[in-house]
Amino acid sequence: MNWTWLEIWSKIQLVPAIGAGAVVVLVAIAVSVALFGRLYCTVVCPLGILQWLFRFVFTGCGFRRKPLPRPLAVSPRVLWTIRLGFLALFAASASFGLVAWLAPYGIFGRTALAFFGGVPFPAVLKAVIGVQIAFILLMTFWRSRFWCNTVCPVGTFLGLFSRFAVFRVRIDKAKCVNCNQCVRACQNGCISPDKDKKIDHSRCVTCFGCARSCKKGALTWR
Ligand code: SF4
Ligand code: SF4
Ligand code: SF4
Repeated sequence: MNWTWLEIWSKIQLVPAIGAGAVVVLVAIAVSVALFGRLYCTVVCPLGILQWLFRFVFTGCGFRRKPLPRPLAVSPRVLWTIRLGFLALFAASASFGLVAWLAPYGIFGRTALAFFGGVPFPAVLKAVIGVQIAFILLMTFWRSRFWCNTVCPVGTFLGLFSRFAVFRVRIDKAKCVNCNQCVRACQNGCISPDKDKKIDHSRCVTCFGCARSCKKGALTWR
């Protein structure tokens, strides 16, 4: 199999770009986050796209047609503690050469090579890789993109800045009838189901699923 595309894709990923000192890519990612928030998670990261595809295919086939993704039922403070804890673990793991176990492209690339690339991984390692990717994908049925909005250190890092992005999905409270269609449609579980309808922009991946679901035109990107 030709893996050139995998190599090319790696060039625009955050962690490989940091490792390679690819300033142009890093500046491009920084600008995109400043303008559009975590759009990177929707159109660049292969692990994010894989999770979206996985849910899309299974819900499209009628398997659990109406999932109600929600974030973990914990307070924002606890959630931030968990997310920042994984980010700190990720930073620490660099000293031990284990960074690829939490880095999204490391997970995706290793899975592709182990199961489709014909690279001879030891059986135990292959099993661990299989369990990790199975966990990430299966969690999409329970808490939607749990990996992206709770665990992934890259997502948390981008989320520190995406909260202040120039263009964000916003709810016009005057038009909102509190039907919660957007809450159900949000693949990252970042719209609160209460009347306040707050959007957690640190977790929003700018996918516009919520805007498409709103029949009242209350959700816009501005
Ligand atoms: S949160 Fe992480 S795994 Fe998810 S799409 Fe973003 S970078 Fe990829
Ligand atoms: S789908 Fe639209 S109207 Fe319904 S709760 Fe969301 S923003 Fe409000
Ligand atoms: S559905 Fe809306 S709030 Fe949820 S991640 Fe996508 S754009 Fe953000």
